[in-house]
Amino acid sequence: MENKTFKQLGINDNIIKALSECGIKEPTDIQSQSIPIIKSGKDIIGKSKTGSGKTAAFGIPLLDSLKHSSRVQALILAPTRELALQISGELEKFGKHTELQFATVFGGVSMHHQIRKIRTADIVIGTPGRILDHLNQKTLKLSGLTHFILDEADQMVDMGFIRDIERILKYTPKKKQMILFGATLSGEIGLIREKYMNRPIVAESEVHVTEDYLEQYYYNVQKHKKFSLLVHLLKTEKANQIIVFCSNIRTVEVVSKNLKSQGIKAGMIHGKMNQNKRIRSIKEFNNGNQSILVASPVAARGLDIKDVSHIFNYDLSQDPQEYVHRVGRTARAGESGKAFTLLSARDHPAFGQILQNYDLNIQELQIDNFPIVKFEVGESRQRGNGRFRGHRSRSRSGPRRGRVRSRSR
Ligand code: ADP
Ligand code: MG
Repeated sequence: MENKTFKQLGINDNIIKALSECGIKEPTDIQSQSIPIIKSGKDIIGKSKTGSGKTAAFGIPLLDSLKHSSRVQALILAPTRELALQISGELEKFGKHTELQFATVFGGVSMHHQIRKIRTADIVIGTPGRILDHLNQKTLKLSGLTHFILDEADQMVDMGFIRDIERILKYTPKKKQMILFGATLSGEIGLIREKYMNRPIVAESEVHVTEDYLEQYYYNVQKHKKFSLLVHLLKTEKANQIIVFCSNIRTVEVVSKNLKSQGIKAGMIHGKMNQNKRIRSIKEFNNGNQSILVASPVAARGLDIKDVSHIFNYDLSQDPQEYVHRVGRTARAGESGKAFTLLSARDHPAFGQILQNYDLNIQELQIDNFPIVKFEVGESRQRGNGRFRGHRSRSRSGPRRGRVRSRSR
């Protein structure tokens, strides 16, 4: 509507120039709400859907208000390494014409290089565990901190980072600006708000920048035909970049392996893969070398994966919110996208929850004839590991007729 321009919001020309070099011309709704609040120095809670531009919503006013100095002025905490990398990537681009220095800090890699970067950094972006390591080792000092930012705050709480966040806060000066962003903010986030924030202003935008461009469909399919339907759709849909979501790690592995057996090249990403492998998967996918990525939702949450044209939900997780996060991977920032959900009996309870909780326009598609292909479940590797419960009973069952009861998961 009458959204102000970045210039009218008082953003410096050097940042506007960098933004326009990234194709960002006008603020999204959450950005026009957040920028004035953050510039005024008040605490803020920002809530808006995936893909609405939250990184820039806090990043732009942050870059705008900082000047290069010899101390760390801003700390941005993110739940995963990939997300930390993504945030620093965006901020480095937006801050290209400033003097500001960045350090990205996460576990699983050597601390040495990070320590060097931290020495000159104005803004440190990192995951809670490794940030704490640096604080404990005194290789990171936050006594001069002016901005404390939590991105994907809800996910951090879900992942059990709240204690770490509190420990990190102990290292920071009392007087600082608290900035908290997420797609959904509930539960234990309240604790941060009560204990550590000073009358925060809530910026909330229900508008998905791209909602109109997202088409959502579902198929009802018997469980033993699901993989065949997936293969059929992958072969027949005109798609560039596709993410296939599976609700757990084991399924991610099985599906990507079977796709390969069908001659369909697919990368994968899940939470049990090591750091380098995950980064490589994302890179291969983002640079277009790999056009299909089979992913577990947590591993992909919050990640800005460019130009995803199609989302396939191979199955659904119990958490209805998860669906919104998943389909939010496509139709981002003006691009159009399609989301297909493959439902067998066991997905129906979760699907019912999704429809009940959200006002979504998802249309049913019917399909009768598609080739049935081989689907091998193979060895269940991690016997006795609770994570994979429910799969063991499925392994080796192969294509099997008859009722599969929907199980509560
Ligand atoms: P969120 O954190 O809300 O899920 P992101 O910050 O990851 O969203 O942004 C999603 C995508 O939209 C990114 O590729 C980002 O560069 C782009 N983007 C951000 N702001 C704008 C804007 N004002 N105009 C166009 N694209 C934007
Ligand atoms: Mg984000």
